[in-house]
This record gives sequence, structure tokens and C-alpha cells, in this order.
Amino acid sequence: MPPTQKDVIVLGAGFVGVSAALHLQARGRSVAIVDRLGVVAGETSLGNTGIVQSEAVFPYMFPRAPLELLRGGLNQDPRVQIRYSALPSIAPFLWRYFLASSPKSRVRTAKAMRGLIELSVAEHQEFAGPARSGPLLRTGGWIKVFRTPRGRDAGIADAEEVRPYGIPFDVLTREQLLALEPHVGEAAIGGVHFSDPLTTSNPEALANSYADLFLARGGSLHKGDGRTLTASGDGWSVTTDDGAIQAREVVVAMGAWSDVLARSLGYRLPFGVKRGYHMHYAPRGNAGLSRPVLDFEKGYVVTPMARGLRLTTGAEFARVEDPPSSAHLDRVEPFGREIFPLAERRDAAPWLGRRPCLPDMAPIIGAAPRHKGLWFDFGHQHLGLTLGPVSGKLIAQMMTGETTFVDPSPFRMERFA
Ligand SMILES: Cc1cc2nc3c(=O)[nH]c(=O)nc-3n(C[C@H](O)[C@H](O)[C@H](O)COP(=O)(O)OP(=O)(O)OC[C@H]3O[C@@H](n4cnc5c(N)ncnc54)[C@H](O)[C@@H]3O)c2cc1C
Repeated sequence: MPPTQKDVIVLGAGFVGVSAALHLQARGRSVAIVDRLGVVAGETSLGNTGIVQSEAVFPYMFPRAPLELLRGGLNQDPRVQIRYSALPSIAPFLWRYFLASSPKSRVRTAKAMRGLIELSVAEHQEFAGPARSGPLLRTGGWIKVFRTPRGRDAGIADAEEVRPYGIPFDVLTREQLLALEPHVGEAAIGGVHFSDPLTTSNPEALANSYADLFLARGGSLHKGDGRTLTASGDGWSVTTDDGAIQAREVVVAMGAWSDVLARSLGYRLPFGVKRGYHMHYAPRGNAGLSRPVLDFEKGYVVTPMARGLRLTTGAEFARVEDPPSSAHLDRVEPFGREIFPLAERRDAAPWLGRRPCLPDMAPIIGAAPRHKGLWFDFGHQHLGLTLGPVSGKLIAQMMTGETTFVDPSPFRMERFA
């Protein structure tokens, strides 16, 4: 069978890959998506918290306060979980993350991310209209709740940091919180409501609705392993179940697995993963939630999803392929039951996702420095759902020589040289 010719191969069918493919297609490129699972959103894009976090200008940084470090290191902080057996492998990334977590670096990342984040809702809506994804999307934002006056002060101080970026929020008393979410338990003494973010009741279905639009517009999806990528003539070739596909250009959007391919091509990156779990619960009686709610001091979120109330955990530091463990979910579930109307579990085991991370918590979006026609679009950490469409726009503009809507230099791979 002769190879199929395309203009661009996109490796990875998560939010990031599908979005890049749609934007390239809109600019007249013929595009094939190749994913090792052969389905859309089979990994991390499937099971996340479902918030288009248009308020998340500031990245999550590695703690620097000695007590917080100690609690985290001893697995006493429910927001994080460390797999001790993985430490020898992940220590270099953790160290780079610690170093990149200075106040100065945090502000640098925030300034860079703002240009992407502020378009995140609008860029989702650009896809959602023609993809008819409307029923999957919710307005009404999300809420973080506090358990203690100390937590409230810290949470409000965090929120105040984004005010200069034009991000609206309301501080809620317990009564105001109950007016929005009547079933939140007494342990929550108040909250902050971010009203602008969109949320979804089914991230997997949302990604598939975008992919259906891509397919309806003439794109193709193939099952194949991106690690079969080889230089071929003037471009690149990948082996798939449907035969070889050749293209002049390739976009690597393999999320937490992108680093494996980058490394095989000679790019050594300080790459890490923050893993996270979810579990669905039946709601207790007629209780429920109408938007995602974060337990700020315990670091997990409960979101109303199509399958029930989805509890998503914070960061588990482990190797990408370490087997899943129920430890983190088991630790936070009792806190969840204090605040949320969670009845029985609905999944046989916790679902595991992997947030792809660079130490400065900004993605890599741009050309591979030493390979013509190779482009990178990965490392979207806690924000791949949020940033998928807007990152796709940026990389498509770069690849087609358009003026970019934002300065892409903070996202260059060379910042880690
Ligand atoms: C618990 C949790 C909650 C989260 N909540 C949110 C949220 O509310 N909002 C938000 O914006 N973000 C959230 N995130 C982060 C977000 O889910 C990720 O940043 C995002 O899914 C990354 O998308 P991606 O397309 O880069 O990667 P993925 O969705 O992981 O997709 C990568 C794709 O690459 C494919 N692949 C891997 N290896 C190969 C190979 N060798 N060859 C071909 N294909 C390959 C995989 O099969 C997969 O389909 C959350 C993450 C977790 C874990």
C-alpha cells in the first residue's frame, strides 16, 4: 500500500492534538491525527475536572515554606502524594520545579500565560458552536470553599492576585455560598466564586465533539505509535494500522508521553508528570452540585458530571508508567464526604490521568530547534483542557507564517537549553 500523503501529522488525540488539528485544517492544511489508542481523549483529556480555567493565570508552584515542604514530603498534605519508590527517577524534575518556583519566575509565567488564558473561553466557543457541543458546556463558573478563617484569608489573597489581570470574582459568606450551592456541608465556611470560566459535564464527550468536527471537515484519525516517526524525504513518516502516513510537518501533542519521543530525537527536557485520579459517586438523595467546587485547604474538586459527582485529586508525583494506586483518593475521600453529598462509589477503581509538566508550568509550543518540519505542543500541566484550543491556534499560526496573536517566545523549547 503506498503511503498516504498529508500536509501535517498530529501525534496525540487529546484536547491539545485535536485542537491543533482543527486550527491547521481551518488554514487549509490536510491533517491526519495519529494516536496509539486510536480513539479521541483516551488518556488525560478524558477524566479531568472539566473547568476551562480562565482565571488560572498564576501557576501552581512547588512549596517553599519549610513546614509546607515537610508536610508534603511526609505525605501529610492531602493536596499532594509522593510515590517514594519513584523519587530517584523524579528527583531531578522536582528539583528543577523547586528552582523554578521563585516568586519572580511565578510572575514571569503568569505574564506569559495571560495571553493564552484570556482567550481560553472564547477559543472553546469557536469550536463548540460548529461542533454543536453546547449541551456539554455550562456557564456559572466554579467555587473554591474554605474550612477555616486561615484558609479563607489565604484563598482570598490568592484571588486578589488575579484582580489586576481583570478577572472577576466574588467573595462568598456561608449564606451566599448556600444560595449558589445549597448542599455544601457545614465544614465549608465560605468561598470565592469565579463566575467567568466555562465548565463541562463530560470532557471526553467535549473532546470527541471537536474531533467529530475535524473528521466532518475531511480530517482523519488513525491508530498508530508516534515512536515510529522517521524522517522521510523532505518530511516525516509514521506507521499506522491504516498503513504509512507521510507529511511535510508533524506536531507532537502526546501529552505526558511527548517527552519519550522528544528524547529519542535528542531533546533532553526537564519533563515531569503530576498524576491525578478521579472517582464518581452517586449523589446523596436529591442533593447535588451545579458547578465544580474546590476544597481549597484539602486540594481536591468535586464536579457534577454526566456520570455522577466526580471527585478529582491534586498532584501525585510518580513516574508516568508507575501502576495506579488508590492511596491518594482514599486519603481525600473522607474530606469529600464532610462537605459534599457523596453516596456510593460508581467506578470499580480510581481512574488515573497524567498532567504533562515543565518546571516553569508553561507549555512548549513551537518549532523543534534541530528538525525541520517538527513542532512541539505539550506540557499543558493542570490546564490542557483550558489551553488546548488556544494553543492549537498559536501553533497553527506559527506553522502557517501568520502573525501570532501573542508573543510565542515564552513557550520556546530553547528556554531549557
Ligand atoms: C485529575 C485531573 C484534573 C484536571 N482538571 C483539569 C481542568 O479542570 N481543566 C484543565 O484545563 N485541565 C485539567 N487537567 C489537565 C488536563 O486534563 C491535561 O492538561 C490535558 O488533558 C492534556 O491534554 P493533552 O492532549 O496534552 O494530553 P492527553 O489528553 O493525555 O492526550 C495525549 C494523547 O497522546 C496519545 N499518545 C501517547 N503516547 C503515544 C504514542 N506513542 N503514539 C501516539 N499517541 C500517543 C495518548 O493516547 C493520548 O490520546 C486535569 C488533569 C487531571 C489529571
